[in-house]
Amino acid sequence: MSDNKNGSANTAIEQALNRLDVKLRVLEPGHVWLAGAGPGDPGLLTLDVVSALGQADALVHDALVSPEIIAVAEQAEKFFVGKRGGRLSIPQKDINTLLVGLARQGRKVVRLKGGHPYVFGRGGEEVQALVESAIPYRVLPGVTSAFGGLTSAGIPATMRGINGAIILATGFAAVSDDRPDWTALARTGQPIVIYMGLTHMAATVADLFAGGLSPDTPAALIENATLPQERTVVATLGTLVEAANRENVVSPALIVVGGIVALRAKLAGAS
Ligand code: SAH
Repeated sequence: MSDNKNGSANTAIEQALNRLDVKLRVLEPGHVWLAGAGPGDPGLLTLDVVSALGQADALVHDALVSPEIIAVAEQAEKFFVGKRGGRLSIPQKDINTLLVGLARQGRKVVRLKGGHPYVFGRGGEEVQALVESAIPYRVLPGVTSAFGGLTSAGIPATMRGINGAIILATGFAAVSDDRPDWTALARTGQPIVIYMGLTHMAATVADLFAGGLSPDTPAALIENATLPQERTVVATLGTLVEAANRENVVSPALIVVGGIVALRAKLAGAS
């Protein structure tokens, strides 16, 4: 798209915003807003989140949030609490303490997370800490990477005749109570989108076979979804691990398993 076209899209959005009767809330000193930044593309930010970034004077963010989104919070002091693929470089309790401490200093705090804060983002734990310390909070939804990623990879999340449900699962919890019962999920026959799935992919795939999925089941890896470097690798359940290794797929990536993946080729058209 030329600069000129971008310019007119930007003017159109300014005018559209003026017509929209949106009552954006004020971020009060001493409050914490947990905001979802979406999967990466700044176009997927909600108005609430853009407004939060504009109001924050303290921004606590993860590795999954793109630099150009962080830069929107121009006035805010930035606290990077780098956290990726379920691994913490800063323990969760220290992040909780930081949020509570900033709020108690009377800062206007935005805690920005990739995707949606309440989808595999430990948002619930942070809110629990805020509640225990009587800190007022709000949670601002974001587009979760499963739905942003499927869409930008050209895969509908549901399609009549193919699936009546879609499963979002974490592949990271190898042995804990959070570990999904993969064989039971496989038996539903419904597509599964796996977050944080690269590390334990071979074990997950073996469990899906044990649940009755065939090696021909369509599967894909979506890396850096909605970002300029997005890449989709299409395989089958039988060739998924080999394809991920061959193509050197790295985090952040989603694994998609199920008939919806085959629609990608059918729906690929002019863009
Ligand atoms: N709260 C986030 C998920 C955090 S868990 C959300 O709602 O999306 C981190 C995992 O999310 C990553 O390991 C990856 O599986 C997935 N993820 C996040 N952003 C992604 C992106 N841009 N492309 C592909 N996967 C992504």
